[in-house]
Amino acid sequence: MWNSLLVFWDQYHGLIIGFAALALVLLFNQFAYRRRWTSYPSREDYLAAHPGCATAEGVVCATCRRKALVAPVAGRGRIYRCGWCDSELYRVDKA
Ligand SMILES: [Zn+2]
Repeated sequence: MWNSLLVFWDQYHGLIIGFAALALVLLFNQFAYRRRWTSYPSREDYLAAHPGCATAEGVVCATCRRKALVAPVAGRGRIYRCGWCDSELYRVDKA
């Protein structure tokens, strides 16, 4: 049994390590978002601070004017962040 496990590890360790690293990064992000949750502005606050960011296609990043990406945060709601300049824009609390 251990032998076949070793063969499996031999063949797929690159893949397994890759997925584990990805899972770790996602988990860390969730943790960071949850911890800093109240430090993110709400959607209303963000739009009040950057009135030009509400466009017909949705809210855009204040820095680079590109469309924000949505990331769900377990137990908290959703966070809108800019994938281009890697900045967090605002939070939407869970209803
Ligand atoms: Zn941006």
